[in-house]
Amino acid sequence: MLFRTVLKEEFNRLIDIFLSSHEVIAPKRIDVDRDGKPVHQFLPVSSIDEIDLGYETTEYSAKTYFLPFKETLSSFCYEDGDWEQEIKYRLMPRFLVGLHPCDINALLKLDKVLARDYFPSPYYISRRKNTFIVGIDHEPCEGGFCRAVGADTVTHGFDLFLTDLGDRYFVAINSDRGYNALNRVQCREVTEQDNQDYLHARAQIAQGHKDLPIHNLPNLMDIEFESPVWDQWGAKCLGCGSCAQVCPTCYCYGVKEDVSMDHTRSEKKKILYSCCIKDFAEVAGGHNFRPDRATRLKYRYYHQHRGFAESYESPMCVGCNRCGRACLAGINPPDIIRDLQEEGTV
Ligand code: SF4
Ligand code: SF4
Repeated sequence: MLFRTVLKEEFNRLIDIFLSSHEVIAPKRIDVDRDGKPVHQFLPVSSIDEIDLGYETTEYSAKTYFLPFKETLSSFCYEDGDWEQEIKYRLMPRFLVGLHPCDINALLKLDKVLARDYFPSPYYISRRKNTFIVGIDHEPCEGGFCRAVGADTVTHGFDLFLTDLGDRYFVAINSDRGYNALNRVQCREVTEQDNQDYLHARAQIAQGHKDLPIHNLPNLMDIEFESPVWDQWGAKCLGCGSCAQVCPTCYCYGVKEDVSMDHTRSEKKKILYSCCIKDFAEVAGGHNFRPDRATRLKYRYYHQHRGFAESYESPMCVGCNRCGRACLAGINPPDIIRDLQEEGTV
């Protein structure tokens, strides 16, 4: 990894350069919540003044810029006894600035499934390749447990990664295009003082993380598969699916076909779905493999913390706690994990 430092005004100049050639997506303050805390979302911006890199978290993750809620996979035209299919992957290059380490780790998890497994998605890959990613370090967010799942730091999956050193950023460079981009503005080699300041900043961030001991979670989940904990939390679940929509790693989807009334055109559409919604596991003939909310909630947690870890060697969850914040029933991973641990020690 190469390192440089760049003054903040120079980095802003870099964003300005990208604004002229890319769609720039950044954390933008959009409102305040009922406690007066700022609410942020990743949104397209047209000037630096709209960007707030000091945000705590966003309601939705940046997943939507790689896995949109709804996308057209292909369109068909039927004419004169023949048919034609059109598939589009092209998109305007994007510059996504301000991703926290947990959200970059989330993209690395999605890469494993959607870019490197048996059935890579060309739609996802084209968005991933066309997106220049700038990450940034931050103080731990309220309720987050990224450190417990090993997602509080990141060493790849980005082009540039910033650590705030007051008047300047300490920049980790992880790609050729990151290196070339940074050279378009004034930056300099790191000094011994920069290194010291960076290590100090990282140590401060690490100190702010709350401990959530979740080692051995996959085995605990296997042991507690029939635990009453699932029924207790399942009784609260509304089956609304909000948790999966805000989650940066949930990728389950359905496919539907829209056909024109005269049967000359159609579109095949992919729509993100949630395993907590009632008909997720319903099959032809009406049988539902997971008809009750407790089973569906359990399934989501087993996929996040058990099944994914078995297939890809780490949990799918990156500890952002967006699902916990979005859930109107107050269901959140730290509390469920704590209850399972208490159940296991009875
Ligand atoms: S856990 Fe919460 S957010 Fe998820 S489906 Fe249940 S009620 Fe909705
Ligand atoms: S399961 Fe919840 S805490 Fe884990 S990555 Fe998804 S939204 Fe974040």
